This record gives sequence, structure tokens and C-alpha cells, in this order.
Amino acid sequence: MGIFTSHQPPDPVGDTAPPMDEHPARIADMLGQLRQSANSRITHPRRFRMQQLKALEKMLIEREEEFIQALAEDLGKNPTEAKFSEIDFVRSEIDYAQRHLAEWMDPQSVKVPVALQPALARVEARPLGVVLIMSAWNYPLQLLLAPLVAAIASGNAAVLKPSELAPATSGAIARLLPTYLDPRVYAVCEGGVDTATELLAARWDHIFFTGGATVAKVIARAAAEHLTPTTLELGGKCPIVVDNHLPATAKRIAYAKFMNSGQTCVAPDYVLSFGDTDALVQRLEKTITSFYGKDPMTHPDYGRIISQQHFDRLTGLLEHGKVVVGGQSDADTLRIAPTVMRDVDLDSPLMTDEIFGPILPIIEVASFDEALDFIAQRPAPLAAYLMSENPRLQTIFSDRVQAGGIVHNAPMTHMIVPSLPFGGVGASGMGSYHGRFGFERLSQMRPELSKTTVIDTLNAVYPPYTWAKRKIINKLM
Ligand code: NAD
Repeated sequence: MGIFTSHQPPDPVGDTAPPMDEHPARIADMLGQLRQSANSRITHPRRFRMQQLKALEKMLIEREEEFIQALAEDLGKNPTEAKFSEIDFVRSEIDYAQRHLAEWMDPQSVKVPVALQPALARVEARPLGVVLIMSAWNYPLQLLLAPLVAAIASGNAAVLKPSELAPATSGAIARLLPTYLDPRVYAVCEGGVDTATELLAARWDHIFFTGGATVAKVIARAAAEHLTPTTLELGGKCPIVVDNHLPATAKRIAYAKFMNSGQTCVAPDYVLSFGDTDALVQRLEKTITSFYGKDPMTHPDYGRIISQQHFDRLTGLLEHGKVVVGGQSDADTLRIAPTVMRDVDLDSPLMTDEIFGPILPIIEVASFDEALDFIAQRPAPLAAYLMSENPRLQTIFSDRVQAGGIVHNAPMTHMIVPSLPFGGVGASGMGSYHGRFGFERLSQMRPELSKTTVIDTLNAVYPPYTWAKRKIINKLM
């Protein structure tokens, strides 16, 4: 157990290896063994959870170079970016969980109504069992291991299904993780849609999915078959409303948008500008040059698009408006320059679908109010951003915009605060994680009440319901 396909790399198109008919039996076998171990509650003690968190941290420290190399192979990620946005991100989640686990696991005593006293009542976080974690390719390490931190902390066993579109990272995780974590209760299962479909046919105690809305519906349907709870971490079009054009505005927008070549679920998808848009475009152009030089396509800090299919989709979007900055692309290296567009067609895929690439449309609106209406007419995004120092606008923005998260003046930074929940709302997902929120998401918050039989205060409510008892009940309840 522990690993499936480290010797059999998945075919990104389908699963040609191993043969299809071997898969279901092997998945059932793996899951059977895993569930047996989970049922023996080896994952429950705090000591075990702490050991496994430590082992995961050890893997990230000792194998950092291998992961950095895999991320460079899959996405052209610069080592610095790979380290802080993937490896260090997970390490910080591990560190936070280690520091708070005792407090999270500690049952919380709650008050008991007078009618039930004397009694003790408490809420205790209990493990759910076996969790399936399926993730996307854009942060292929972080998106698989951060939910794993929550699964370990909450005392669950877990099966990890990495994205087949990031095969180097998927392979590295499948190869390394079982040598650090307890293979009786943590397994990696590599593969594409066929493997995912087979995994989804099994019964899980929770499915934690990160990906797009189309596949999320497949997940929800499969989960419904076993009434399995799910967490769906999805995407959407994250708007950024720009009130002022201070130098920091362009820097913060460009940084959040062009990191990982725009392939970030919380990257600003488009700008709503109600100020001097010409000045904003000029500042964005200058900033892009200051970040990635005159030729970002060859700059080592600038990554590539994950696949030919996504490259074609993204270059196709350039037709739906006027390119005012960038626009260059190279099919051989799968690179697309940081691009800014204006006069975009609002009914085109550029503005109806999540962009998920380094293309930033700017939509000019007449007022702040119009910007808010624009957002309200579209599905709730994973995050919504406002660049403004005006506290009144900030308050209105927080009040009127529905989004997974709200950030003023520092797009994307909310996701690195482990004490904040991270997740979507409506079309951008359900359920949140990071820190305590992940721990609780993968726990059953179980109520427990304990009374003594020595004094039977319940005498007052037993039938027959006499007039005197009814009076007592009315008074107590
Ligand atoms: P995706 O939905 O295509 O794939 C995600 C996972 O689902 C992969 O592991 C894949 O193997 C599996 N899968 C694909 N097709 C399947 C099918 N038919 N049946 C069963 N499983 C299937 O998503 P993606 O392209 O990898 O990622 C991009 C999306 O993920 C974007 O929408 C982005 O916004 C979103 N995302 C969200 C977050 C977040 O934290 N909320 C983070 C990153 C990405």
C-alpha cells in the first residue's frame, strides 16, 4: 500500500498503464487495507498526528530540491517562487497545526440548560475516517499537501490523487511521501480521469476536491451516491476594483496576476477601473518590465502555461479585445507574455469564463457603484479585491460584495494567513480550510452529554404528563 503508480507513470490523456481492468481491484484492495488500519484508530492519538506532521515537514525539508525541480519541469516555476508558494506554504500550515493541535483536540465544555442540570456537556472533534484528496495542477504540491495537513491533524487516513497534468510533481509526491508517512494510513494514487472515476466510485468519509466547477459536479454526483460530505475548492473570476493609481497598485496587481503565469485560483481575473485607466495601463506596463525585464518570455522568474490545450485556449482569448501590453506567445515553450487588454467583449469567453492565465482585461466603469453592480451580476468569485485607501469604499465593498474572501489593497495575501478560512461561496466552492478551519472541516464536531443516575432530575418530565409536570416543564424549557 502507500503508493500506486510510482513505477507506472500516468498517461496524461487517459490511464494506459496499468491496464484498466487491474485498477478497480487494486483500488478496492488499497482502500480496504487503509480502512482496516483507520478502523484500528492508529491515526487518533495526538502523538501519532504530531509524528506524521513532523514526518511531512521532514520530507519537505530533505526533498526540497526534488520538489523544486519537479515544479520547474511542470510549470517552469522559479525556485524562489516554488519554495515560498508551495513548499514553505505547506510548512507554515504544518507549523501552525503543530502549535495548535492540542488546543484544537481539547474537548470544549459547554453550558447545560437548567432543565438538564446536573450534567456535563462538551464538543469534541472526532476523526471522520478515510479522506480522498483530489487536487488541481496549478500549485500541485501545495493543493495536495495543505489538505493533507488538515487530514493528519484531524486524525484521518487519506488517499491523495495528484493532478496528472503536473506529472513530475505527481511522481515526486508518489515516490517520496510513502517513505516518510505511515503507509498503512496514507496512500498516493496517481492517474488521470479513469483513476479518478474509480476512486470516486468507492465510499469515502470526506472528499476534498480542488479544481474546476465542471469536474466538481462529477465529484458531487459521485459523493451523493454514498452521502459523502465534500469540500469543493473551486475558482471563478476574481475581480479587482481600482480606485486609485498609486505605484503600489500596479505592482500589487501585476504581482498577483502574473505569478505562476496567472494560473492561480485567486489571481485577479479582471480589473474594474473607474479612475484614470490610461495611467493605470502605463504603470502596469512599467511594472511588468521592472519585474520580468523587456522580454518576459525568456525571464527565469516567469513561468509557462501547463499544457498545449491551455496555451491554445489562452491565445484564443486575445481575439476578444485590444491588447495594450504584451500579447506575445511562443507555442514551443508554452509561454505567453504578461498581457493587458482593453475594450474587451463582455460576452466572449474572455469575460464569461475564468481566464486562469497571464491575460488581464481592464473594464472601464463610470463609478464605484457600477463596479459593484458588475460584480453582483456575476457568479460569486473565490476572492474580490479593492485597491483603495478610502475607508468608506472599503466598508461598502465588504458589505455589498459576495465572494469567498475580501481583500483590501493586497490581492491574494489572505490565503497565506493560516488563521483565516480559505474557500469559496456559491459558484466558487463550498467549505473552507487552512489552520483550524481545515481541522474542523475534516472532523466531526461531536456533542457528548453525561448525566448521573444518582439524582434523577428527569423525574419531572416522565409520563404521565400531569398538570403539575406540565407546569414544571414550561418553566424549565
Ligand atoms: P480540474 O477540475 O480539471 O481537475 C482537478 C482534478 O480533477 C484533477 O485531479 C483531475 O485528475 C480530476 N479530474 C479531471 N477530470 C475528471 C473527471 N471527469 N472525473 C473525475 N475527476 C476528474 O481542474 P484543474 O484544471 O486541475 O484546475 C483548474 C481549476 O481549479 C480552476 O478553476 C481553478 O480556479 C481551480 N482551483 C481552485 C483552487 C482553490 O483553492 N479554490 C486552487 C487551485 C485551482
